[in-house]
Amino acid sequence: MPFPLRSVSEHRNDRAILTARFLFTLERTMQKSVLLRALQQEIRRHDFNYFVDQPPSVAQGGKGVVVPGCPACMKRINTMNQFLDHLADDAMPALIERLSVDAKAE
Ligand SMILES: [Zn+2]
Repeated sequence: MPFPLRSVSEHRNDRAILTARFLFTLERTMQKSVLLRALQQEIRRHDFNYFVDQPPSVAQGGKGVVVPGCPACMKRINTMNQFLDHLADDAMPALIERLSVDAKAE
């Protein structure tokens, strides 16, 4: 195979480098402590727990069933690895986007 498929860990590494670059650029425009607090708050907002998918629940006369996932995002998640991917791929990019818009506005 002339172009071997890149491994998952290589993709994760690229993502980590990109995230680090974003953070470096953000850090120049934001105070470190403000940035850290924003990251901590965002991570704590998410939770690997259970929520009712398509409420109301069956118990309340609806069709919603209890599923594992992130209640804050109503996203179905089955494993801790998927939860970490949710933080890395959904939560962090959205936060970085919000922060960079806020930083530009200032
Ligand atoms: Zn979430």
